Amino acid sequence: MENCIFCMIAGHELDARVIYEDDTVLAFDDITPQAPVHTLVIPKTHFDNMSADVPVDVLTALFSAVPKVAALKGVDQSGYRVIVNSGRDASQSVAHLHVHILGGGAMSHGMVHFE
Ligand code: 5GP
Ligand code: ZN
Repeated sequence: MENCIFCMIAGHELDARVIYEDDTVLAFDDITPQAPVHTLVIPKTHFDNMSADVPVDVLTALFSAVPKVAALKGVDQSGYRVIVNSGRDASQSVAHLHVHILGGGAMSHGMVHFE
């Protein structure tokens, strides 16, 4: 997809600190980290968000990469939070499906904050 920053990162046209890569997904550190560890996992092909048109093999690859990335970032033992913001109400800001991995310190129990 043209003008999509995550497609550009997936195509190595835009720089990112890449943590993990396979045929289907790429993981890289978030540019504005909200935790000591904040890494994003994306499918290399473009999907806007967590919609029904995302093939099961892509979802499998995406979520299979999560524990691998957590281990590479050193948070697999301490724990981490996995978040997917999908669509307007979730304040998704980049319209290319991505999984947030957050860790590196204790987080509060809640995960939903309505405005
Ligand atoms: P969302 O709000 O869509 O769930 O999350 C998008 C995330 O992408 C944000 O945490 C934001 O900091 C991150 N982000 C936006 N642009 C870039 C970029 O160019 N490079 C990297 N590494 N992260 C980005
Ligand atoms: Zn894209």
